[in-house]
Amino acid sequence: MLISIDLYTTLIPTVITALTAVVLFYTVSRELRNTLAVSSVKRISEYVTLRCPTCGYVKVREFKVGDYVGKVDDEKCPRDGSNLVIMGIGKEQVSA
Ligand SMILES: [Zn+2]
Repeated sequence: MLISIDLYTTLIPTVITALTAVVLFYTVSRELRNTLAVSSVKRISEYVTLRCPTCGYVKVREFKVGDYVGKVDDEKCPRDGSNLVIMGIGKEQVSA
C-alpha cells in the first residue's frame, strides 16, 4: 500500500509536468506557425509600374491604397516634371 501511494505521489507530478510540457510545446509551435505565416504574407509585396506619358520614363514603387491602372500619380517625372501614370499593378514574391 505504501509503495503504491509513493508511486502515485511521484507519478502524478510527473504526468502533470509532461502534460504541461506538451501543452506548452503545442502552444509555442502554433504561435511559431502563425509567425511564419505572417512573415510569408509579408514577403509578397504589391507594386505598381509608373510611366511618364511624355518621355516614357518607367518607375516601380510599392502599391498604395487607392492605386489603379490609368491613375495619374502624384509623383513627377525626374526628367520633365510630368505626372507619372500607373501602367500596371502586380504582386511580387520576394524569395528569401
Ligand atoms: Zn518624363
